[in-house]
Amino acid sequence: MTTRTCWDLALPATRLRGSHDVFQVATASELLAGGFRGEATYGEIRGHGDFGVGTFDQLDGEMVAVDGRFHQLHSDGTATLVDDEQSAPFAMVTFFHGDVTQEIGDPVDHDGLLTLLSSLLADSGDFCAIRVDGHFTRIVTRTVSKQTPPYTTLAEAIAEQVEREFRDVGGTLVGFRAPAYIDGLTIGGYHFHFISDDARVGGHVLDLHLLSGRIAADVESSLHVELPQQATP
Ligand SMILES: [Zn+2]
Repeated sequence: MTTRTCWDLALPATRLRGSHDVFQVATASELLAGGFRGEATYGEIRGHGDFGVGTFDQLDGEMVAVDGRFHQLHSDGTATLVDDEQSAPFAMVTFFHGDVTQEIGDPVDHDGLLTLLSSLLADSGDFCAIRVDGHFTRIVTRTVSKQTPPYTTLAEAIAEQVEREFRDVGGTLVGFRAPAYIDGLTIGGYHFHFISDDARVGGHVLDLHLLSGRIAADVESSLHVELPQQATP
């Protein structure tokens, strides 16, 4: 079997800068099973990346980090900046470089964007950090709401999720594409969070229509997982 990698884009080595490591707090399986207690503070997490996604103690909203700014996306669709003392039961961050870039000149929907990304970044086996800046005709997001112990599973918590639709908004998608063989350890496939340009609204992306924009991506070479120090309730 031949597996194309992002390296097949034949980028000059000189454009590949610095490390390409992802730092992750806990595992996706733990989160799915109801591991909603904060395991690491955002003060610590900031030391491992300026770009990424995650959530908060008690599953209190979604996290999106871009350009070193960490945002908490609340269940009412609003966003605020994250304090160092806040903690994450799950988060994945990296120092983003944007080694691979491509302009998006024609409008694309959610499936169209994933198709575009898959052709740009190859079709399997790759672990990539992906950023898409653009103008969205519409974007539908969900944001989990704060849970109280004893915790249920993530699926049950998501059943209460609040969906929001934002129209005619500039913003950034921040996320990762992880290969299926590490699904469970991390979140397999494409996973994006959105933050608007004015940093006022966002959430976990469910659907979108992008008018125009720009893709930037990095191939990640390692995944460091901080294992939970507390038993799952
Ligand atoms: Zn998410």
